[in-house]
Amino acid sequence: MIITIDGPAGSGKSTIAQRVAQQLWIYYLNTGMLYRAVAYLLFYDPCGVFHGNIEADISQLTREQLDALPKVEYSYSAAGAAVAVRGQDFTQQLFAIAGIDQLASRVSALPVVRAYLLDAQRDLAKKHDVIADGRDCGTVVFPHAQYKFYLTASVDVRAQRRMQDAKTLALGLTFDQVRADVAARDERDEKREIAPLRIPTGAVVIDASDMTIDQVVERVIEVVERK
Ligand code: C5P
Repeated sequence: MIITIDGPAGSGKSTIAQRVAQQLWIYYLNTGMLYRAVAYLLFYDPCGVFHGNIEADISQLTREQLDALPKVEYSYSAAGAAVAVRGQDFTQQLFAIAGIDQLASRVSALPVVRAYLLDAQRDLAKKHDVIADGRDCGTVVFPHAQYKFYLTASVDVRAQRRMQDAKTLALGLTFDQVRADVAARDERDEKREIAPLRIPTGAVVIDASDMTIDQVVERVIEVVERK
């Protein structure tokens, strides 16, 4: 079984997907973490120091450069989703460094990066029943998923929710900065040429602007059980 949840930044996908995974006893695949991990490994050394040596012309990134990166090990357990390299967990860094989300968004617009991560995502879903969240899970990665959702909310609501997130709070950003960041990522993710953020055909659209987490989880499970 494959369930996909796509949607813009801050729509609550990962919270919802994780809760659904727990309730249905299935595996959670956070595809955004894979893009963040690749951006991290391209721009930061293992100690979290920015080296940015490909910053000059990211569009020239090659498959050879990607293949030279250490392999990202993704795992999901009761403790949540995690990524590691050679057994060293670096999940925290993917959210604790200001700007990593923008870097991930830029890197993810490159066809070479999307091709690099496509098989990895599909391989993870071969071994488990899975709920995957991201931007192109229902359109490109798992077009034959049995259940597809598109989760959204207004930009203000999404920015407000990000502000309440402990990880955002730790970065000390203002509401205007967070809102601008969310809007910039929306624009880049929707307008890119490859795998743009779209409502997948046949997806159930949930506008969570006025819904609680519990209500959204309930709605997703109701749809899955009804089918
Ligand atoms: O979901 P999250 O905010 O962690 O994703 C970080 C970035 O990775 C997004 O802004 C988006 O550009 C990219 N992404 C993507 N396709 C996915 C998941 C994430 O392009 N399936």
